[in-house]
Amino acid sequence: MKNRHNTSKRIDRQSLFQLRNHILIEHIISEVLKIPHKTSEGHFRFLCPICSEFDTATNNKTNLARCFRCNNNFNPIDLVMIVNRVNFLDAVSFLRPLLANTHAPPRPSPSRDTPDQPERIGVIIRREKEDLKDAQNE
Ligand SMILES: [Zn+2]
Repeated sequence: MKNRHNTSKRIDRQSLFQLRNHILIEHIISEVLKIPHKTSEGHFRFLCPICSEFDTATNNKTNLARCFRCNNNFNPIDLVMIVNRVNFLDAVSFLRPLLANTHAPPRPSPSRDTPDQPERIGVIIRREKEDLKDAQNE
């Protein structure tokens, strides 16, 4: 059977973190998903995609959108899943191009510790030969 999981769809933690935190939730609501929204008393409010109420707020610190009526918290990925009716992976691929346009700090190059030098193959073979000899002598 063919493996249906495309490895390019695997998401690393770092990308997930960036998707959740580096794309402004208000930008996603107003510009990307075009959810009805308004600013009242200086607060950004959006139409809750679950209960269709404006009893909502966004938190720029956590980058979450919250509905006080149905008590749901939405991160950018949640919102895309709900509004576009897509699954998690599709929501991630949908958001990914947006990430490229943000001023996210460059991804640190993975620090690769030098692994212990593997035993030289010649050494291993020699040892196995000796073991063989021992076995034969017994
Ligand atoms: Zn709601």
